[in-house]
Amino acid sequence: MVTDFSPLKAILSGSIILQTENAEKYQEKIDGSWNATIRTCKPCAFVKVASVSDVVSTVKFCVKNELEICVCAAMNSEFAYVDGAVVIDLSDINSVSVDVQSKGFRYVDRLDCPCKIYQSQVAVVGAGAKVGDVDAKTVPHGLVTPLGSYSGLGVAGFTLLGGTGFLTRAFGCTADNVLEFEIVTATGEVLKASERENDQLFWESILVSIGMMYLTMIPRARMDSESIVHEAEGRMGVVTSITFKLHEIPGHILGGELYYSISEGASAYKAIRDFVRQKADKRISVYMMLHFNDPGPQVICRFLFLGSPRDGEAILSELTEKTKPLENEVKPIPFDQFQKKADWMVPRGRTYYTPLGNFLKELTDDGIDIIFDAVSKAPKPSVMSDSNIYITSLGGKLQETTDEENPFPFKKAEFWVGCVVAVQDRNAYEELKSWADTTDQKLSKYGILPQGPEAEKVHNRLKNLKQRYDPENVFHQNVNVNPKEE
Ligand SMILES: Cc1cc2nc3c(=O)[nH]c(=O)nc-3n(C[C@H](O)[C@H](O)[C@H](O)COP(=O)(O)OP(=O)(O)OC[C@H]3O[C@@H](n4cnc5c(N)ncnc54)[C@H](O)[C@@H]3O)c2cc1C
Repeated sequence: MVTDFSPLKAILSGSIILQTENAEKYQEKIDGSWNATIRTCKPCAFVKVASVSDVVSTVKFCVKNELEICVCAAMNSEFAYVDGAVVIDLSDINSVSVDVQSKGFRYVDRLDCPCKIYQSQVAVVGAGAKVGDVDAKTVPHGLVTPLGSYSGLGVAGFTLLGGTGFLTRAFGCTADNVLEFEIVTATGEVLKASERENDQLFWESILVSIGMMYLTMIPRARMDSESIVHEAEGRMGVVTSITFKLHEIPGHILGGELYYSISEGASAYKAIRDFVRQKADKRISVYMMLHFNDPGPQVICRFLFLGSPRDGEAILSELTEKTKPLENEVKPIPFDQFQKKADWMVPRGRTYYTPLGNFLKELTDDGIDIIFDAVSKAPKPSVMSDSNIYITSLGGKLQETTDEENPFPFKKAEFWVGCVVAVQDRNAYEELKSWADTTDQKLSKYGILPQGPEAEKVHNRLKNLKQRYDPENVFHQNVNVNPKEE
């Protein structure tokens, strides 16, 4: 059935992109996905919303016409669009405003002390903004909120998964730093959710955000059916803006890359792990990255010291003394510049295979040996160039939170380890997938598996929320909790 979009067009301030009317623009949207795997999908339309009322009109139009809805902004996930859906494209609602003066947002800090009222500088971020957009506005004021490590990530999509990055050790995960959500529900109602308004929805949105990651991991924990994946996550509506708490940072931090030879890689990574453990300093964060290219893998450690470069230099020289890198490109740099320095490692538009990875209780010597053994057995560079294995430090502030404050099941994890496989030759897809899955599986013996009563509790909580805010399961184009399930 062909849908007549003219009633929606008449009331939108944004625009509708249909393949039949503008094939070129339609293809441009399709080609905007980070992962080329989904580019064979044919959504029914892209609605480029320009305001909250556009989002309301589009949701109501889709519900009335029984059209599938997808929500996207930065298009980094495989849920950005699907066959036949109307895609609510938030990329134009991307304003970022930073309140540096008033310190006027009063909130209860869930992480520091549930009883104390704080005031904070805040950033109000449109749901279409990317990590780089936010950093560019906050960092020049010496302020930051903890976001993901790739500047092209969509802030809303990322936050709704909990969100971990270079600043997690210092400030917790991203969802923990949300002060307010603005949400359009399935009935087209616009709700603000904070501690001052719809506090239940707010607390639960936070818990749900963090709980999503929890639940997406259950299938692996149970090792049974695919179907559980599709019951794992629940969106309550379309988030149109998010207010974040900001934290002060120096104008320049100390950050950059250390490079090691492949033969010394495992021992260097073991020493770096020991160093992070011994220092137990939340300002230190490391991403150990094995990047595959021709002629062979590069062994990299992205190092961040989130304090004055002077203090950081002493700490860094201790580390380089112990690990003897071939090259040291760590220097004083504004945080936003540091944050986007590794974007080249995950170029857009490749065919990617990205298993979830493992949140490791402990990065053991054996775990590091498994990783380097996988590197030595990796398929040849011509079929997997631009792939990487990431080993990212967690702990710090995240580890200090209690289950009550933060249901993120991996908060006790020391490192998050996973593979991002770029498939250069589609004929090699199965070989690459099998390599990544085997590596993931071998490391899973050290991984935290969310299961048991806690996981069931989060799942039930999601179901209750869906029953209240989306009883007809309008928003199900992502891994989903079915509000009608028994
Ligand atoms: C290169 C790369 C690097 C990554 N790095 C990290 C990292 O450092 N840390 C980390 O924790 N994760 C990381 N991720 C995972 C990332 O957080 C998820 O893929 C996330 O879903 C991406 O969101 P997006 O907005 O960029 O993508 P999109 O595809 O635009 O959105 C993803 C999904 O989120 C939902 N969504 C998006 N916006 C809204 C909204 N406004 N309202 C309601 N639902 C919405 C939709 O279901 C949508 O399908 C990374 C992913 C990639 C591809």
